[in-house]
Amino acid sequence: MAQNFDMVVIGAGPGGYVAAIRGAQLGLKVACIEREHLGGICLNWGCIPTKAMLRSSEVFHLMHRAKEFGLKADGIGYDLDAVVKRSRGVAKQLSGGIGHLFKKNKVTTIMGEATLAGKGKVTVKTDKGTEEITAKSIVLATGARARELPGLEPDGKLVWNYKHALQPPHMPKKLLVIGSGAIGIEFASFYNTLGADTTVVEVMDRVLPVEDAEISAFAKKQFVKQGMTIMEKATVKKLDRKGDKVTAHIETGGKTHTMEFDTVISAVGIVGNTEGLGLEEAGIKVDRTHVVTDEYCRTGVEGVFAIGDLAGAPWLAHKASHEGVMVAELIAGGKPHPIKPGSIAGCTYCHPQVASVGMTEAKAKEAGYDIKVGKFPFIGNGKAIALGEPEGLVKTIFDGKTGELLGAHMVGAEVTELIQGYVVGRQLETTEEDLMETVFPHPTLSEMMHESVLDAYGRAIHF
Ligand SMILES: Cc1cc2nc3c(=O)[nH]c(=O)nc-3n(C[C@H](O)[C@H](O)[C@H](O)COP(=O)(O)OP(=O)(O)OC[C@H]3O[C@@H](n4cnc5c(N)ncnc54)[C@H](O)[C@@H]3O)c2cc1C
Repeated sequence: MAQNFDMVVIGAGPGGYVAAIRGAQLGLKVACIEREHLGGICLNWGCIPTKAMLRSSEVFHLMHRAKEFGLKADGIGYDLDAVVKRSRGVAKQLSGGIGHLFKKNKVTTIMGEATLAGKGKVTVKTDKGTEEITAKSIVLATGARARELPGLEPDGKLVWNYKHALQPPHMPKKLLVIGSGAIGIEFASFYNTLGADTTVVEVMDRVLPVEDAEISAFAKKQFVKQGMTIMEKATVKKLDRKGDKVTAHIETGGKTHTMEFDTVISAVGIVGNTEGLGLEEAGIKVDRTHVVTDEYCRTGVEGVFAIGDLAGAPWLAHKASHEGVMVAELIAGGKPHPIKPGSIAGCTYCHPQVASVGMTEAKAKEAGYDIKVGKFPFIGNGKAIALGEPEGLVKTIFDGKTGELLGAHMVGAEVTELIQGYVVGRQLETTEEDLMETVFPHPTLSEMMHESVLDAYGRAIHF
């Protein structure tokens, strides 16, 4: 007989598992179906293991700077297998934690592959056969996977996707990273710091193309200083794989360059996991691999919701989780607020880090705002100098008429932790006056957030 639930969630990534837990907290009888690993891409192959690897490269980098801090460190080196082992261990620990959270919240976990099977029905292929489940509400949270471009398909040996790059069979000597979004740049940063001769190719006119142009330019300067080769407005046309080498044909400025590498990382975006779910039969609309939803993540088919990467950009874990909470509350009869896309921060954990929320300067101008822009460099901040991190910039953009904080953009040490200050500000619809009146603790990097706001109004103190 079919098991019956109030809410069934398909996929246990940060969208799905958070939706399931919130639903259970609200008194719903909830099942979460997962075909591979609790925690999804984020915990197993995304956010968490990359940050563990990047921490290793950051410590390695700091060890090389030991003398600067009056310390001694001889024979500095690394053991790539041990770096990977630590990263996999961190991922495993967190993925295991989801199982405990499910038990604690009485969420039924079903390991298997789910397909929609008619109104309020889901079939699940498990190790033991096929199960049928019925539910009043179904939440699709099947996430996404790496996009593969023809000719650039990963093979795990010479050409890697993010999964390969997280468990490298060897340390690349000459590495090509295709794509300079967050994923590409984080891997470029990791491998470059550990000594790989790294080239990044970006089809757009600048690295980190979704960031404010000034922040992209600042970050690029640092990457080049660290030894990376950056090719912008460039396209990898073809990869010739022969033996242990890849010849890349890279087109830029009307010319084709032929360059040889031993490893290529393809980081050219993601595609939604829409296949095999029975979406078409259920009448659910898909636009270029992403399920079409309204602001409440409703698919247009009664009782079926889609959240997270499956439901489109921004492809971020915190967006997925927030949608999960919103949908669970809606299903439980609550009146949650829809997500505000402009208040979702984006963070890139390269060296130096990059973080932003809201509109870039160009977007704000394009939207017709009469803007006020404030900037503050890390070199003017005591804590940044004490930390030995004087390279960075905090930029804020205000609506000159109303004082609304339209956007904030940062590059430098720990900015991925700092950005949330501005996110709270935007959520509370703060104005320049509130931010200027706020007292920031000293000495902290956060003082630069204050100074940047002050600078927008000609009042910066330390620069
Ligand atoms: C290398 C890398 C680094 C990243 N770093 C960050 C970061 O620092 N910060 C950030 O915010 N985001 C980061 N991301 C993005 C982040 O991982 C995703 O935005 C997030 O995982 C999306 O969550 P989700 O729940 O929508 O989907 P997913 O995490 O993809 O989870 C979907 C789950 O559904 C399961 N599933 C799919 N189909 C079925 C089915 N038919 N039946 C049952 N189960 C199914 C899958 O096995 C998977 O476990 C990174 C991604 C990558 C690849």
